[in-house]
Amino acid sequence: MKKYWALAATALILSACGGSEPTPPTNVSANPSTASAPVANVSANALPAECKMEISSDDTMRFDTKEINVKSSCTDFAITLKHTGKIPKAAMGHNVVIAALADKAGVVADGLEAKLENDYVKPNDTRVIAATPLIGGGETATVVFKTSKLKGGEFEFFCTFPGHAAMMTGKIQLVD
Ligand code: ZN
Repeated sequence: MKKYWALAATALILSACGGSEPTPPTNVSANPSTASAPVANVSANALPAECKMEISSDDTMRFDTKEINVKSSCTDFAITLKHTGKIPKAAMGHNVVIAALADKAGVVADGLEAKLENDYVKPNDTRVIAATPLIGGGETATVVFKTSKLKGGEFEFFCTFPGHAAMMTGKIQLVD
């Protein structure tokens, strides 16, 4: 995490020298209470391009992708969620949570009970393979996970904000 912030600070300094006025994206760091599932100790910046992807969402309940294909040659994979809307997370929050298809309903139901203060993810939920923090309009969040977690079964990604999982969901799978 320290290294990450150091990189972010460097990026800010570099962009500040450019003369223009860039608006740095608001990066939300992982909530420690929801990051307790085994999380890859790798910065997304260090991963090759084929081992990371970006998903967009906005003020409607949707992701811009319905399928995430993860190359099995990647040990770690990073997903960056971008919320291009304007509504704050308490009203139109989004996250990307990954779990086995069989665990999805339980993860969503327990997330609802965990409430906004836990980003709608039950703390220490071992069914959760990866989860970004919950973000609102204008924010961006990244999660990195071990691709070995996607072996042997069907897996989905979804948003655990109340009522969103039915629309905001898709399949995530390992591909050659
Ligand atoms: Zn959502």
